[in-house]
Amino acid sequence: MRMTFDQRFDEERTRYGLRACCEDCAQFVPEDGSCAHRFPNREHRRAWWDALREGQDVVFCKDFESAA
Ligand code: SF4
Repeated sequence: MRMTFDQRFDEERTRYGLRACCEDCAQFVPEDGSCAHRFPNREHRRAWWDALREGQDVVFCKDFESAA
């Protein structure tokens, strides 16, 4: 799923502690930053989201599985 990044989304993801990036996913392999399912995960990494600017796409992974 894609949505457009904007200031409201950025504020709300912080306020509500949104967990949707690879670092929050049970399939994340922290040793090398990859995905256990071998999905290309560059756009799902937290650092990528943190670098997004107004109008760019936020890309949610269809296979996210909460690690909590
Ligand atoms: S399943 Fe998706 S969110 Fe989870 S580690 Fe792989 S690419 Fe990232």
